[in-house]
Amino acid sequence: MRDTENVRQRLVARAEKLTEEALKIDAELREVDSPDWDDRATDSEGDEVLERLGVAAVNEIKEIRAAIRRIAAGTYGTCTTCRRPIGEQRLEAVPYTAKCINCANL
Ligand SMILES: [Zn+2]
Repeated sequence: MRDTENVRQRLVARAEKLTEEALKIDAELREVDSPDWDDRATDSEGDEVLERLGVAAVNEIKEIRAAIRRIAAGTYGTCTTCRRPIGEQRLEAVPYTAKCINCANL
């Protein structure tokens, strides 16, 4: 039997860290624009990078939450597409993954 409690704790900790990062990004995006016009172009480029980071963090949080639900449901570690077990190495690398390596590469 897999030690899902250990995995759950890791996922919760990761989700908390990502939430913190997403909030920080959000706060930075809300900062008042520089009054210096020359700085604006660089600022908005930085904002785009921040926005992408924010989106990536939010997406990962969603996947982590879904994984925590699968742990509760007892289906963690089973591919949501083909219903076969997900490889240990893959779970180790991407603990919140919902798909086995074969289905993820489809
Ligand atoms: Zn699969």
